[in-house]
Amino acid sequence: MRTVITPYLAFALIAAPTLAFSPSHTAGQTTDTERAAAREILAEIDALQSRLDPTGMAQRLAGRMDAERDAVVARTTEIWEAEMRDLSDFIGRNPEIAWEEFLAVDTLTSVLRERGWDVEVGVAGLETAFVATWTSPAGADGLTLGFIGEYDALRDADGPFHGDQHNAQTPIVYASAFAIAEYMERSGTPGQLKVYGTPAEEVGPPAKVIMHDVGIFDDADLLVRSHGVTETSRSRAGFGSCCLNINEVKYTFLGRPSHQMASWFGRNALEAAVHFYTLVDGLRSTFRPEASIQGVIPEGGEAPNVVPQRAVVDYYIRYPDPVYLEHVTRMMDDAARGAALATGTTVEIDRYGEYRDGISLGTLQELAFAYAGELDAPRINPEPTRPSGYEETGAVTKDIPGIGISVFSSRGANHTRGMLDDTFNEVGHTGFRISAEIMSSIVYDFMTRPELRNAVAEEQVTLSGLLDEYHEALREAYAAEVGAPIGQR
Ligand SMILES: [Zn+2]
Repeated sequence: MRTVITPYLAFALIAAPTLAFSPSHTAGQTTDTERAAAREILAEIDALQSRLDPTGMAQRLAGRMDAERDAVVARTTEIWEAEMRDLSDFIGRNPEIAWEEFLAVDTLTSVLRERGWDVEVGVAGLETAFVATWTSPAGADGLTLGFIGEYDALRDADGPFHGDQHNAQTPIVYASAFAIAEYMERSGTPGQLKVYGTPAEEVGPPAKVIMHDVGIFDDADLLVRSHGVTETSRSRAGFGSCCLNINEVKYTFLGRPSHQMASWFGRNALEAAVHFYTLVDGLRSTFRPEASIQGVIPEGGEAPNVVPQRAVVDYYIRYPDPVYLEHVTRMMDDAARGAALATGTTVEIDRYGEYRDGISLGTLQELAFAYAGELDAPRINPEPTRPSGYEETGAVTKDIPGIGISVFSSRGANHTRGMLDDTFNEVGHTGFRISAEIMSSIVYDFMTRPELRNAVAEEQVTLSGLLDEYHEALREAYAAEVGAPIGQR
């Protein structure tokens, strides 16, 4: 498997100087063009936030007396300490890289089966993806509350390791979901709980997009998730991404083999790939400077005495917004066709992954943050961070409301051995426990508080529409510089 850089550098980039070209680091927009296109839309987001007053609602909800909620949180803590902390450590000590998380899936799904959940492994054609369903004894006719859990490890020269703390994600979700199930049972609340086991967060193609495309998440009224981070924070309401919009594209050049001593009978796919790679470098000055394009040539022929029949160039193409990203990608596709034409080869273009701006809901972010304060989460950043979806692809966040919970769980940065060390000690264990407690508080409030559900629904539908408007405004803003090639207009 490729050792590609993760498309989702977790949350490490939010505070990193990589985004130094953004003077307004808490806005979802990066360039002057994007900020100009977003101006009216951001004003509408501000107006929406004033009307919904997420901070006020969050303080009321988190600060209220509710013995039943407190009982659910206390059970969450108990389940975490009695079982899930060890389960997190076990997965942490048995790391498996993306798409090969077989032991993790076996272990995690057996825990669900023991508790009577219906488990389906291998959903959406992905061997290590699963969906588990628990139906209330009071019936399924109620809310469907979804929990997302990941379990893939990173890999470096020393082998696989859980340097992004994905080992804890599903155990956190279990502590919360099992406590919520007990509450639904004793209160006679109808509805369903679903755990979505999503593999391979760290590499493309994006598993959550594949799962979303076949409708896996469609029946969820709410999705919750957590991720290990270096500070307790919440993101500003709006849309954006921690790590730029990304297209993952594989260009496969196909030629004709021949012995190199009679190479004129062949057509050299490697030369086509090298021409293409060089063409892309020649295009960099034609692109806006925020474009970030990195590629590798994972296949370039079999033997030096045979004209290479097949060569592959694999690119991550990134830009702060998806509209200009399309322009960059189209010009790169043309460059690949040009390289093929020049060398008498053909090229197949496979866009195997897309990561997009996600939606961040103030209603849920502020609620998580208020509970983080109530539950004494450590290292709280008082300032809201750049808007970012609750999952790395953005695709699911556009359609389904949700929240990613961020509680300090490591003194080392994401994707480091330091973060791995903290996954097994008091720093990680405390952060994970509080994440589960916040998760239960939010799910409980969502179930029992119609005013929260209504505010979340209104915010989701409004932001999703505004995101479309933003893209339309960007298309107008870029009209003069993108579009058909010169001479074809
Ligand atoms: Zn991660």
